[in-house]
Amino acid sequence: MTLVASHPDVAGINRKLGSLSAPGRIAWAIAEYGAGLTFACSFGAEDMVVLDLLERQRPGVSLFVLDTGRLHEETYALIEEARRHYGRSFETYAPQTVALERLLWERGPNSFHQSVEARKACCAVRKVEPLSRALAGRSAWMTGLRRAQAVTRAELPFAEVDDAHGGIVKLNPLADWSEGDVWAYLRAHGVPRNALHDRGFPSIGCEPCTRAVAPGEDLRSGRWWWEAPEQKECGLHARGEG
Ligand code: SF4
Repeated sequence: MTLVASHPDVAGINRKLGSLSAPGRIAWAIAEYGAGLTFACSFGAEDMVVLDLLERQRPGVSLFVLDTGRLHEETYALIEEARRHYGRSFETYAPQTVALERLLWERGPNSFHQSVEARKACCAVRKVEPLSRALAGRSAWMTGLRRAQAVTRAELPFAEVDDAHGGIVKLNPLADWSEGDVWAYLRAHGVPRNALHDRGFPSIGCEPCTRAVAPGEDLRSGRWWWEAPEQKECGLHARGEG
């Protein structure tokens, strides 16, 4: 049995998901894709909402973390806490050793500050290639992306075809949620969260490429703050790039 769907009807899926709440969207995805579904969990606030909704509906459902090797200590602490809270482990994908050694040898450990090209080269080794392995054989993957997070996400649909990963379906069940919706859910359900959020980090990625933002600043302005807003995607969620 192949787990990869052919020619997904994303227009129909978007109509369906648009009529449902976020828990309903997740329930639909679990029923529709079964073992073909996985969730990319970065352990940010939105992803903790999705993780909690998934665990309430299908404990032990497939989900994975991309451990770039440069995550914050607070994120590793949250992963440990989430393992205890949900009583489960998380599939983990790390950069391939040879590619990482070559990156460090040729460009140095902090090459991401040199140019957009250099930063994307680091993301390619530490995030994009591991993501490809995590999604191999899947028919759908889920994210915690929201439209209000960034200018690059303003048109985010509930479902889209992910051409970069074999035309599988990418699902964004929180696409229409506000930041307030996220935090109301986390507080109401006692969901573990990253300690960095309380120190002004709305968006949490790798430690050298994430910083706190001032109240009222764009939520993604703390990611790769030395680059223009329209460049701030790492290749995991690039849209309109095929
Ligand atoms: S976010 Fe920064 S450290 Fe992490 S993979 Fe991308 S460039 Fe490298």
